[in-house]
Amino acid sequence: MHPIEDSFKYLRDVIPSSVTLVAVSKTKSGQEIMELYNLGQRDFGENKVQELTAKYEELPKDIKWHFIGHLQRNKVKYIAPFVHLIHSVDSRDTLKEIDKRAAQHERNINCLIQVAISDEESKFGLDHSSLLGLLDEIKAVEFPNIHISGLMGMGTNTSDVKKTRSEFNGLKNLFDELKQTYSTENIDIKTLSMGMTGDFTIAIEEGSNMVRIGSLLFGPRN
Ligand SMILES: *Cc1c(COP(=O)(O)O)cnc(C)c1O
Repeated sequence: MHPIEDSFKYLRDVIPSSVTLVAVSKTKSGQEIMELYNLGQRDFGENKVQELTAKYEELPKDIKWHFIGHLQRNKVKYIAPFVHLIHSVDSRDTLKEIDKRAAQHERNINCLIQVAISDEESKFGLDHSSLLGLLDEIKAVEFPNIHISGLMGMGTNTSDVKKTRSEFNGLKNLFDELKQTYSTENIDIKTLSMGMTGDFTIAIEEGSNMVRIGSLLFGPRN
């Protein structure tokens, strides 16, 4: 009778407490979000700036809003005042803009860098060497209002479990390597955002500590 509540309880049972559950609420109503909110959920993820901003205005202010979609530079300003974590940074230009807007609001914005681990062209993210290049720049250049707290990846949408596992394993190895090699004032690699409805179990087995789950919680999107 309460599908959202049932799915939430199920997920709370199967997801270890060390893994943060981000409830992906894109296309879902404020009322549906409130159902989860009233069960204690506070982390919600959206992939469109306009939708996110509208929901931020409407809903309780202690919600932690995660931006998980592709972020255009000219839209950073709309989410800069309140966003909790941006999962999808994939260029220096975007980062520079986030830093500038964060400074205007006298805050620090937490970001993950999105890494390309899938072979699907529709998915954004940096390859290995661009990632290292960007981290080196962040180390050298001043982005005082940005904090890089980890990596995000999206696996290929496939039923080939081996392929998914190997993509997630590759990202976990990279995460571990960067954790050792990059530790500066504004880089502290500790969050690994990987896993969605179809692959979160594998992602957690491979070392994810943040999963982004939409359809399993809220039901299919139109
Ligand atoms: C939509 C979306 C999700 C959630 O997808 P589900 O399969 O519904 O769990 C996770 N991550 C990103 C980046 C998304 O855009």
